[in-house]
Amino acid sequence: MPHYDFAVIGAGPAGLATSHSLRRRHQSVLLIDPLLADSNASGAPAGLVNVAIGKRALLGWQSEACYEAFTRNLEMLSDYSGRDDLCQNSGILRPALTEELYELFFKSYNEQPWPEGWVSWMTPDEVKKFNPHLPESHGGLFLNNGLSVYVDRFLNTYRSYLRDQGVQHWGAPVNYQVDENGFTLIDEEGQRATSDRLIIAAGTATLDFPEWQNLQANRVKGEIAVFESDRPLDWQHAVSVFGYMIRRGDRELVVGSTYNHNEFTFAPTDEGRRQLHQKLQKVFPELSSSLKQTGQLAGVRVTTPNRLPLIGAHPDHPNLYIFTALGSKGLLFSEHVAAILSDHIVSGREIPEELDVKRAVLH
Ligand SMILES: Cc1cc2nc3c(=O)[nH]c(=O)nc-3n(C[C@H](O)[C@H](O)[C@H](O)COP(=O)(O)OP(=O)(O)OC[C@H]3O[C@@H](n4cnc5c(N)ncnc54)[C@H](O)[C@@H]3O)c2cc1C
Repeated sequence: MPHYDFAVIGAGPAGLATSHSLRRRHQSVLLIDPLLADSNASGAPAGLVNVAIGKRALLGWQSEACYEAFTRNLEMLSDYSGRDDLCQNSGILRPALTEELYELFFKSYNEQPWPEGWVSWMTPDEVKKFNPHLPESHGGLFLNNGLSVYVDRFLNTYRSYLRDQGVQHWGAPVNYQVDENGFTLIDEEGQRATSDRLIIAAGTATLDFPEWQNLQANRVKGEIAVFESDRPLDWQHAVSVFGYMIRRGDRELVVGSTYNHNEFTFAPTDEGRRQLHQKLQKVFPELSSSLKQTGQLAGVRVTTPNRLPLIGAHPDHPNLYIFTALGSKGLLFSEHVAAILSDHIVSGREIPEELDVKRAVLH
């Protein structure tokens, strides 16, 4: 029976980044996710790496380290695959479409400790010239380093890369048994393997694993819609206000996202559709009639009270670990936080208190 140092359940941003950082630390890894049965699995068509967080556009937790880790990995994946369509590096405009947003964005521009070159301020005329399809604004914050990431391509490329790096893939659900020597994993077809340690990085499903059910964490459903224009769209940057609008190809616009705290299925809803159309109408009023909706997707985020991920060992099973709660910042956080988790397990480095799963274990 094959034996691994680690088994990782979940091949989303958390599980991929963890498998990668463990492999770089010379650990053998078995990665398990039904999605791995398909080398071109579907996924979100686009997401943002936006360091100006939330309505107040605040610089987030360890932004420089997170951004640097994510972009280094993205460059590596582009080199590996020869693809130049994993992301669009054209910045993110946060137009101040109301006076309240102007107060918040301008305050952020002046007071947040932005690293050199990350942000600039645009006057109302500059915003109008930069994107004539937007309504009148009070100016806008421009994130020079903002990225539009084509998430489906990014994740599929990442999975192929890890396979080439010797990470074993299982594409079927597993059961596992815990014993004093580690874990025995058995998939639906009876295939078996053992591992010393097991990491659950299964997104929202993590909270359904029996050992991790008692956590202080919340689910938040989100939806995005894809629109197609009847003519080529004549800008490249992403726009982030009342949600986000991300360009994909010449004619596609991905509009996100909604926040639903009451219903957690993966099914798109009419209410989600209504809200996404409303966002489009508010941000691109004169364009919205030339855009036709061609798709809609739903997902479920995991969030915590301090809006930071959960990583660390289970209090009763020292070889069982968790990595979830990436919230709305899965792309930005995943690589840096995975490195912290791997260093903790492999080299004994302490997990910062604000990330440690201990803070969320309910007794
Ligand atoms: C509508 C919406 C828009 C978003 N926009 C952005 C954005 O613009 N930028 C950004 O950074 N983030 C965004 N996010 C958040 C981002 O998607 C998450 O932070 C990220 O996907 C979390 O990564 P994860 O690996 O923890 O979980 P997931 O991405 O959910 O991955 C979990 C994986 O585990 C697998 N799995 C589940 N159960 C099992 C099981 N029993 N066995 C094996 N495998 C299992 C699943 O198939 C899945 O592949 C958005 C989220 C939503 C819902």
